[in-house]
Amino acid sequence: MRAPKYGIISNVMNIVILLGAPGSGKGTVAGKLAAGDSRLKHVSSGDLLRGAIAAGTQAGIEAKGYMEKGELVPDALIAAMIKDVVAAGDAGSTMLLDGFPRNLAQAGILDGIGANVRAAVLIDVPDEIIHDRIAGRRLCPKCKAGYHVRNFPPKVEGVCDNCGEKLVVRKDDNPETVRDRLEVYHRQTEPLVAYYRDKGILNTLDGMAGLDNIVEAFGKLLAGL
Ligand code: ADP
Ligand code: ZN
Repeated sequence: MRAPKYGIISNVMNIVILLGAPGSGKGTVAGKLAAGDSRLKHVSSGDLLRGAIAAGTQAGIEAKGYMEKGELVPDALIAAMIKDVVAAGDAGSTMLLDGFPRNLAQAGILDGIGANVRAAVLIDVPDEIIHDRIAGRRLCPKCKAGYHVRNFPPKVEGVCDNCGEKLVVRKDDNPETVRDRLEVYHRQTEPLVAYYRDKGILNTLDGMAGLDNIVEAFGKLLAGL
């Protein structure tokens, strides 16, 4: 095994949890970091669930209704998927876990399987900004790259820079569902900030600092683990 780039523990898989509201840029930042380092793996619970829906699995069928309403899917459903991914992770690698845990019960599940959670990173963005960000959000259904019509446009309108696929708007990105998702975030997910702060592993990044700056700050943070 080649030497890991980051100062991580080499005989177990290292987990770094991403926290932040929908539209805070978690997925974009994690995707950029993971693209530049083969020992970093980006795992998005939302992508796992959308993959299950696309594949028509039992879990996907069950998850669909919750997701379209902007509600959380049952803990057991997403936890089963995450446990598999964590179990399959390579020792010495670092997993950027994006979207799980999303409430205190899920944090307990992660602790319960003995996951080696090295840090939690909050990407902090005010609510007012979130609505505008999500309204302009576009997604590549094929390679999962994220764009924004104004803030981060593709080179050709409506087309993915990476793979040429036609960009789509996520079904749960309509204004009413976004309002519900933000409410769920504040009520259920935000308590995790205090949970990881109490454990002494919380880091906060300014989500308004610009994508490149956030990626750089995050990279430094990983290097310091
Ligand atoms: P965002 O963070 O932008 O809301 P995600 O892709 O992370 O988007 O999640 C989309 C939806 O998937 C959520 O609104 C929820 O219904 C479901 N979901 C994702 N992760 C979890 C989780 N850990 N627990 C329960 N539901 C989840
Ligand atoms: Zn693409």
